[in-house]
Amino acid sequence: MSKVLIIEDEVAIADLEKDYLELSGFEVEIETNGTTGLARGLTEDFDMFILDLMLPGMDGFEICKQIRQKKNTPILMVSAKKDDIDKIRGLGLGADDYITKPFSPSELVARVKAHLARYERLIGSNMVENEIIEIRGLKIDKTARRVWVGGEERQFTTKEFDLLTFLAQNPNHVFTKEELFNKIWDMESVGDIATVTVHIKKIREKIEFNTAKPQYIETIWGVGYRFKV
Ligand code: CA
Repeated sequence: MSKVLIIEDEVAIADLEKDYLELSGFEVEIETNGTTGLARGLTEDFDMFILDLMLPGMDGFEICKQIRQKKNTPILMVSAKKDDIDKIRGLGLGADDYITKPFSPSELVARVKAHLARYERLIGSNMVENEIIEIRGLKIDKTARRVWVGGEERQFTTKEFDLLTFLAQNPNHVFTKEELFNKIWDMESVGDIATVTVHIKKIREKIEFNTAKPQYIETIWGVGYRFKV
């Protein structure tokens, strides 16, 4: 459940905002003092702030500035005067939205919802999931560079891992040993195409049930190798 902090000294307004937001499924807390409001905003986990401008302790301008230095949490600023909105914009404090009193509670709820949805998308897009390749019991976690066969983890050297991953990412494509060597080993590497053969053998020992009848990496005689899907 999304948690909203209202920093507002007019209790009637704060209560009204709280009621409407709670009806829309938000968890809401109220702070009536600017200093304590900022302290909670910085130390606790809120998903959104609704911030009044004129407050005892510390004004909304300063609170907004200080929260923005530490957090990306959306801030909706509330003011009784239209002039203040221009001032907020002019100061570039990093508020996400502005609303003037009096406002309709449903408009407030709509704005809170819109900002939370946008913020959640932003957070979501920053979370990078591990890139996983899964083929018939073989699981390759490209990000963590780990491999499992039938749920059991197997250890691979760097080049074995790179070679296996390259083949698995390009299934049903036949690569010559030369192509694989050029792809996986850099120019300075000592070795030749026999290195590829040796690595394929080692990979097969780790992933194949029967290396004489490989299920994953197939030998195409006279050409090279292919990852079967
Ligand atoms: Ca006020």
